[in-house]
Amino acid sequence: MNKDVATFEAKCAKCGSQFEHPSFGDFTYGEIILYTIDGLQKAWANAFSAFPQRVKSMLDPPRSKKFWEILASVADPIDGQKLVAKIVCPNCASDHMDYWNGKQIGVTPIQEATFSHLCELDDATLAIEIAAVTD
Ligand SMILES: [Zn+2]
Repeated sequence: MNKDVATFEAKCAKCGSQFEHPSFGDFTYGEIILYTIDGLQKAWANAFSAFPQRVKSMLDPPRSKKFWEILASVADPIDGQKLVAKIVCPNCASDHMDYWNGKQIGVTPIQEATFSHLCELDDATLAIEIAAVTD
């Protein structure tokens, strides 16, 4: 499901390019934008959806700060690119930003992240996949 998300200005600390990034801002608890490692594609995820809740229930502690990191790494790749839970520069793929959440630029439709290759796994197998990410 696509969702319209507001976009804001960000500036890459490495290459200096300014770009537009979608963000839920600081006010939407439980939702995040994931980026492909090349910074070209984005997807949104909701912590309270069925699969993220399963992942969360397997973490120790469940409120682990690594939750989004783990969720991003088990999401289905987009255009063959893995996802990460941080802003990535679409020009140089750096995740070092001068600033982000700058002035609002517009609104863009963002696809929902999918987890199709893991959704079908039973709990024991999924736990092994998650352990592989956290190690
Ligand atoms: Zn850059």
